[in-house]
Amino acid sequence: MAQHVETLVIGAGPAGLTTAYALAKAGREVTVLEMDPTYVGGISRTVDYKGFKFDIGGHRFFSKSQEIVDLWNEILPDDFIDRPRLSRIYYREKFYAYPLKAFEALANLGVWTAAKCMASFGWAKVRPIDKPATFHEWVRNQFGETLFSIFFKTYTEKVWGMSCDEISADWASQRIKGLDLGAAIIDGVKRSLGVRAKSSGQGAPKTPIERFRYPRKGPGMMWEACADKILALGGDVRMGRKVDGLHYDKLAKIWTVSVTCADGETEIYTADDVVSSAPIRELMQAVSPTPISVFHAGELMYRDFITVVLIGPSRKVLLDNWIYIHDPSLKVGRVQNFRSWSPEMIPDDVSTCLGLEYFCFEGDGLWTTSDADLVAQAKREIGKIGLMDPADVHDACVVRQHKAYPVYDDAYAEHIKMIRLDLKMHFPGLHLVGRNGMHKYNNQDHAMMTGLLTAENIIAGEIVHDVWAVSEDAEYGVSGAREVPRGERAVLRKVAA
Ligand SMILES: Cc1cc2nc3c(=O)[nH]c(=O)nc-3n(C[C@H](O)[C@H](O)[C@H](O)COP(=O)(O)OP(=O)(O)OC[C@H]3O[C@@H](n4cnc5c(N)ncnc54)[C@H](O)[C@@H]3O)c2cc1C
Repeated sequence: MAQHVETLVIGAGPAGLTTAYALAKAGREVTVLEMDPTYVGGISRTVDYKGFKFDIGGHRFFSKSQEIVDLWNEILPDDFIDRPRLSRIYYREKFYAYPLKAFEALANLGVWTAAKCMASFGWAKVRPIDKPATFHEWVRNQFGETLFSIFFKTYTEKVWGMSCDEISADWASQRIKGLDLGAAIIDGVKRSLGVRAKSSGQGAPKTPIERFRYPRKGPGMMWEACADKILALGGDVRMGRKVDGLHYDKLAKIWTVSVTCADGETEIYTADDVVSSAPIRELMQAVSPTPISVFHAGELMYRDFITVVLIGPSRKVLLDNWIYIHDPSLKVGRVQNFRSWSPEMIPDDVSTCLGLEYFCFEGDGLWTTSDADLVAQAKREIGKIGLMDPADVHDACVVRQHKAYPVYDDAYAEHIKMIRLDLKMHFPGLHLVGRNGMHKYNNQDHAMMTGLLTAENIIAGEIVHDVWAVSEDAEYGVSGAREVPRGERAVLRKVAA
């Protein structure tokens, strides 16, 4: 028999849990269904392997939205630690501080290459490509061809699995904005001279953040605490439940949702509102009557992600949080050093736990490589970089993350536009939130803000916030901040849905 809930939330990641927490605090009935049998947190979970804890990637807690920072503090008042950020780039057997230090980069690159960098930078400024269309052209205009080929090309192509000539310039301008070479060089010279660089804040470049906040046991700690709070407020979080069918009865305005449980059983729920943080491509294929935009949803692309964790004794102290691997001869894209994120991620005082990150497409050669072969490859590569002796690795594990990155190809924006129109016209009560839920390549803060606004829409009983207007920095509203006190703003700010 079907169980009825006012609001059903698909996914116990940051977006789904934030929505449910806001609804539960307002006294609303809410149930979260999560397909993972064990972990809440989604991509922001913390995996536990024999007491070794690690993230999918590494999750810095940084937001320009005070409301999100306040919410983090409310959920996890006593467990944040303040961490220094140390990251480097590995390129052709040399390490470069990141952000770059001018003299070190000069010494590593050699006078000839350094001169080439400056000359090609000057040339790009004198002769910019008119209306840059691709990532390559945009970065070349900003930094010059030589810096593009050393510090952008290989890593970007590893992450996205496509040529920089196929990635749109919009993406580059969104992700690298605020990082101009003049400022980077002045900053680099200051660093080289030991003058402390200006820390980032409002209006500062987005990339070079020197310190960040982190829950002492990883980001999963935040989402476990949030799930506990939802339960304490009378909401429900049910694990091991994959939503695989959503039928909308237009006359009754009721959703019927079918779920496959981890034990193979089926459950049926009915709901007035459904909030989905599931990937749009899968969601739309599960909706009936078949949405007219289902073709558009089917065209959305994702990039997948493998972490190979290597555990062994420390030979030398490694302070980096992570190292970008720009070297084209290695498949690994980035190496995480989990002890530097928080000492509590490691269960003893002697082990080093490194996460080698590989970017791939589900089903491709890397994705389908056996765990044993992935571990062997990771050991070879870490030996080549010189961070660990392969013979010292005494334990390892592999974690595959589906759909880690929604891909922004040339057509994605048009597909999303069509899906939004279709949902607005034919499926009211189905609310999209979060990263894959909205196909937005953004951080936790953005996912959470879309969850908060969606909860307010549900409480108001109408669309009073346009969740698509939340910026990548999780800002919303005319001034970028939310001007109206909580509770009141839901009714005061009406926006076009
Ligand atoms: C490598 C990497 C590094 C990152 N670093 C940072 C960082 O430093 N700081 C930061 O703030 N953010 C970072 N992020 C982004 C962050 O992980 C995401 O923004 C955030 O997790 C998105 O939350 P979400 O709830 O929208 O989606 P998700 O985290 O994807 O959660 C969605 C949940 O829905 C569940 N689900 C999906 N389909 C179904 C279904 N049919 N039925 C039931 N459940 C379902 C999934 O299992 C999952 O638990 C990083 C991401 C990556 C990939």
